[in-house]
Amino acid sequence: MFDKVVIANRGEIALRILRACRELGIKTVAVHSTVDRDLKHVRLADESVCIGPPPPGQSYLNIPAVISAAAVTDAVAIHPGYGFLSENADFAERVEQSGFIFIGPRSETIRLMGDKVSAITAMKAAGIPCVPGSGKPLGDDLEENARIAREIGYPIIIKAAGGGGGRGMRVVHAEAALRNALQLTKSEALAAFQNDAVYMEKFLEHPRHIEFQVLADHHGNCVHLGERDCSMQRRHQKVIEESPAPGLDPETRARMGQRCVEACKAIGYRGAGTFEFLYENGEFFFIEMNTRVQVEHPVTEMVTGIDIVREQLCVAAGEKLSIRQEDVVLRGHAIECRINAEDPKTFRPSPGRVKTFHAAGGPGVRVDSHLYDGYLVPPNYDSLICKLITHAPTRAGALARMSGALNEMVVDGIDTNIPLHRELVHDGAFIQGGTDIHYLERKLAQE
Ligand code: ADP
Repeated sequence: MFDKVVIANRGEIALRILRACRELGIKTVAVHSTVDRDLKHVRLADESVCIGPPPPGQSYLNIPAVISAAAVTDAVAIHPGYGFLSENADFAERVEQSGFIFIGPRSETIRLMGDKVSAITAMKAAGIPCVPGSGKPLGDDLEENARIAREIGYPIIIKAAGGGGGRGMRVVHAEAALRNALQLTKSEALAAFQNDAVYMEKFLEHPRHIEFQVLADHHGNCVHLGERDCSMQRRHQKVIEESPAPGLDPETRARMGQRCVEACKAIGYRGAGTFEFLYENGEFFFIEMNTRVQVEHPVTEMVTGIDIVREQLCVAAGEKLSIRQEDVVLRGHAIECRINAEDPKTFRPSPGRVKTFHAAGGPGVRVDSHLYDGYLVPPNYDSLICKLITHAPTRAGALARMSGALNEMVVDGIDTNIPLHRELVHDGAFIQGGTDIHYLERKLAQE
């Protein structure tokens, strides 16, 4: 096992990685920006290195700074968490070239799956069903693009090949709007992802977002840990996730999971990964693969009892997976609410000082959060401050526990979206289960 690992992230996921390292007897190095000195994991880590000022570009995204931190502390490996450099193939490559281990797949795999067009091509070849679409980046010929769109059939969605975080997407309902939409999405994609390649897909009108978690080692072993339903979204960003997906039968789960496992083997995947699908009328359509641990990994951990971050560390250290497919058993139901520092109505970020923080507790309640009384939420980063996860033998039980936990939770001093979550756990359609990806936006628009 590794002697020492650099945690190249911040907030709750940095703390989550630190905890997994501690259990495995791995020493930790926290790298942080100047504004993040007081983060909980920085205090708990064996060592810490300040890598720059608050803007992410000058700290958490500064590749030489992160690698130097590993060098000066004599660390062996780097865990990137999610976001920041986690899906940056150049970073993974430079980590390895500098003699450290990148905790994640090979840089070629990240590159392949990081470009959504090449990912779709690879997945089609591996037998994974994809959304009908252009299958290639769109050229400048408007006539040709209009022909592709007609063939797919409106509405279509234009997506940035290098996109992520729910950005770089635009729905087009009619040919008249195509030209403008293409230009806009291209220029946004160039600005946000330094890559103006865009492609086209059929816009599915009532799908659910269902994704499969996989784990693979360097020895050719790969398992899937079932699925998560992440359909409760706002602006293509997940708000609530759960596992298993309401109403998905065990045969379909086993069949789709097996396909993902085979696809992993086809591309030589290793580490933790997620295959994201849209699910409509009983059919799955691949949209992208995330080559890292995901925010919503805890719901899978709760129903499988498998520690995904621990497996990531063990696999990266060259160990064999500790589980076989037949060991993976889903027990009960888990739900996660993403608690953000934001106004619950306008969704404006609400950074500032947390006066008091009372976490929820009790049976089947898990709180993944870096908050504490007096913590200052800086304005520079993602607004996620806490993940509240509940687990129970049934979905109704997990919802009841979530309702109680949300009522118990106190975050004073800043605004959070807890009121929105309190409303959602009592929403009739959500309680029934199986709402589509547009449900929350429709509900908010009505209000
Ligand atoms: P990102 O990498 O930015 O997360 P994804 O490709 O995973 O982008 O898509 C994010 C979300 O956007 C999906 O969960 C879904 O809500 C919506 N979306 C993406 N593609 C389509 C599509 N073809 N039809 C309908 N909605 C889509």
